[in-house]
Amino acid sequence: MARGGKREKTPLPPGVHVWHGGFTCKLEPTTTHAQRCARLGGARRHVYNWMLDRVNTNNKTWQEQRAAGVPKEERVPPLDNRESHDVFKANFPDWWVEAKISFWVYRKAIDDCCTAFTKFTHGEASYPVQARKSSGEAKFSFQGNDVVLTEAGKIRLPTIGWVPIVGSPSNLADLRRKLRRGRAKLLRVTVRRHADGSWWVSGIIEHQARTQPKHPNPTNPVVGADRGLKTNTIAATSAGTVVAELGKLQQHKKDRNRIARLSRTVSRRYQPGKPAEEQSANYHKARKQLGKHHERTRLRRQDARHCLTKTLTTTSPVIVLDGVPTKMMLSNKHLARDTSAQGHYEIRRQLEYKALWSGGQVIVADQFYPSSKRCSQCGWVKPKLSLSERAFRCTHCGFTSDRDVNAAVNLAVWGETMLANPDLSPAAITGLLCVYPTPGTGTHPAGQEPTGSTPANHNNTSLCKPPPGGGVMGGSRPVRRSRTRLVPSEAGTVSDIVGD
Ligand SMILES: [Zn+2]
Repeated sequence: MARGGKREKTPLPPGVHVWHGGFTCKLEPTTTHAQRCARLGGARRHVYNWMLDRVNTNNKTWQEQRAAGVPKEERVPPLDNRESHDVFKANFPDWWVEAKISFWVYRKAIDDCCTAFTKFTHGEASYPVQARKSSGEAKFSFQGNDVVLTEAGKIRLPTIGWVPIVGSPSNLADLRRKLRRGRAKLLRVTVRRHADGSWWVSGIIEHQARTQPKHPNPTNPVVGADRGLKTNTIAATSAGTVVAELGKLQQHKKDRNRIARLSRTVSRRYQPGKPAEEQSANYHKARKQLGKHHERTRLRRQDARHCLTKTLTTTSPVIVLDGVPTKMMLSNKHLARDTSAQGHYEIRRQLEYKALWSGGQVIVADQFYPSSKRCSQCGWVKPKLSLSERAFRCTHCGFTSDRDVNAAVNLAVWGETMLANPDLSPAAITGLLCVYPTPGTGTHPAGQEPTGSTPANHNNTSLCKPPPGGGVMGGSRPVRRSRTRLVPSEAGTVSDIVGD
């Protein structure tokens, strides 16, 4: 939906690199600040819903024209976000002008709506719905130039004023120093209200650095990180040493019971058919309490994830992740709730940007690499491994290990093979690492074939490509190429980074 060409960027001096970082902190607004924030949140919601209606009407017209047999060239064109900016600007509501709301608020709301539709078209999100006041969440953005962040412990937001910041985050002191010296600039600042009613501010920073990042511990080996349900993440080297572990992220039983009780209270106090504004005060009170508990759980989980990703990226220069998409794990209805609580994608996202900061890299293994089913000792791939089997027992060499540690070791091996053979495709590395021993060569315990193995999975060479038509996972799925993401280690030092 974007219009126009890309703007030419001024080339950087040699040896200078541009970095993007971010910060998040909690605000401590006064009642007036909170009211102003809520008003801006409402203005943003108004524009978002206005744009959503425009797109829906446009889509409907297009469909009607198609049904009526209008040629493709004569149907209504898709909406453009820049054109929508101009349309909204030409028809500002009176209250918008009176409140002197920043132009950035409506621009970002229109762009957000367009992004939501793009995500829907790419199959990454469901169809965009109207932003509702009753959801309790609100957000709006400003251009970085309009925000002042030079005073310790507070931030000045346009039309809101100086708002105190909770605590004194050390990364903000670092950022302030860079802003003062002109070594960094704020690109965008977003203010957001969370479910418990607290206000948070986050920003995107661009800064320049002269030095290349160098991992503080380059001798540390490649580490494989297996993400699962019983254990959130377990990281191990190819030698089998566990370097980091994060247990299953779940609510404590006490919290779970309290949330269930509060949810019941909210539904009991809800009066059907009435809009949110006409619901009772006690209903809103219960909703606020429920939001508070959800927020506490969210913060606790996020803290655990940050601890893990920081440990991993500062101790290991190369981190190998499994390539199984989280979407696939979410499709199991019995595991979906626990899977989404783990935040596997969030862990991957954090690892990717933190590895970049520390001079390391994150490799994502082939989607069809059987990291759980492969024996880390002999390379034998189990034809079947149920979720209830918590220990990995190799029927080929007798090796026994914890299931998750075995998977993490296999991922580390995948990463080492990939780095040693950069020309090989991910699928070829998977084929290289999965051994199919000759049947009846006497290497199996008591000369027996491993249970459940099929002749199709056994070739006469010890190292071979995966069997045609039957992937290494043992099913009928063909071996497909998957994306391997290498995060290049370019630019910047650890001290140059503003943490999040
Ligand atoms: Zn084995």
